[in-house]
Amino acid sequence: MIYRRMAVIGIGQIGASFALAAKAAGAIRRVVGVARSQQTRDMAMQVGAADSCTEDLAAAVAKADLVYLAVPVRAMRQVMTDISPALAPGCLVTDAGSTKAEICCWASEILPPEVHFIGGHPMAGTEKHGPASASGSLFANTTYLLCPMQAPQEVADRFRSLVEAIGARPVTVSPDEHDRVLAYSSHLPHLCAAVLSLTLKRRDIENVTSFAGGGLRDTTRIAAADVEMWRDIMAANGSAIVAATEQFCEALSDFTDAVIAEDWEQVAELLAEAKSYRDSLYG
Ligand code: NAP
Repeated sequence: MIYRRMAVIGIGQIGASFALAAKAAGAIRRVVGVARSQQTRDMAMQVGAADSCTEDLAAAVAKADLVYLAVPVRAMRQVMTDISPALAPGCLVTDAGSTKAEICCWASEILPPEVHFIGGHPMAGTEKHGPASASGSLFANTTYLLCPMQAPQEVADRFRSLVEAIGARPVTVSPDEHDRVLAYSSHLPHLCAAVLSLTLKRRDIENVTSFAGGGLRDTTRIAAADVEMWRDIMAANGSAIVAATEQFCEALSDFTDAVIAEDWEQVAELLAEAKSYRDSLYG
């Protein structure tokens, strides 16, 4: 048992998956889930992610030694403000938000000095949302990025042991580095999937899926993700995302210029460069 009582604020896909994994590992005795809608709360209970659920933030966190924030990024600030007066001294607050600089800044400004904060971002998840899409094995063999901020070593070590207990690999990173890299590794890919989907919609080809193999499904899959979640990520990491899209447009121009010039050697070189990088990432 690593923590006695965990409050999961936003018991959707990530919050419920974390709770299921932690309970299965025997690392947490009791989980209280928080969501605004009865439907989410009922589903969290049905999938076994929580021992009880409430919409009352203060009641949920009052006796918790671990508070796990898994609401959309832009909702984190208000949630931190609302829970602050009720947090137990010495408890650990952590989050699962997909961006880190802004959230870590809010935590330093808003949370009371007698509680600890560690920023977190599990490198796992799907395009689905809500507790119905949760899985206790979601984090197995994945990286779990951590921004320990000012947390004392023993507090950080204890949370790292929970991350390891759910089968993930904890990796420490600064909030700024996290957001800079994620703009390329996650936010740009999402934008590409959305832009591809938008392009097809605007061209309005009838029965386009009859003319497509698995590639179209694969490359547009993440465009099906929750809109609010991704709007918040774009808003929180806008300048890094713009820098990444500028580089993407440069590479796209390299391709289109070579095709316009009918320079097939250059096209082959660009494709080979892309292929060898992709192979080096995933074999
Ligand atoms: P999700 O399935 O939509 O879950 C979010 C949950 O938060 C919902 O169940 C929602 O339920 C609740 N909620 C929303 N606003 C709230 C508020 N103001 N107060 C209390 N509860 C609230 O989303 P998710 O995929 O789990 O994402 C949660 C967080 O994890 C986000 O910050 C996201 O950036 C991050 N993340 C997601 C992924 C991924 O691939 N899915 C991966 C890593 C990190 P109600 O509407 O009923 O309140």
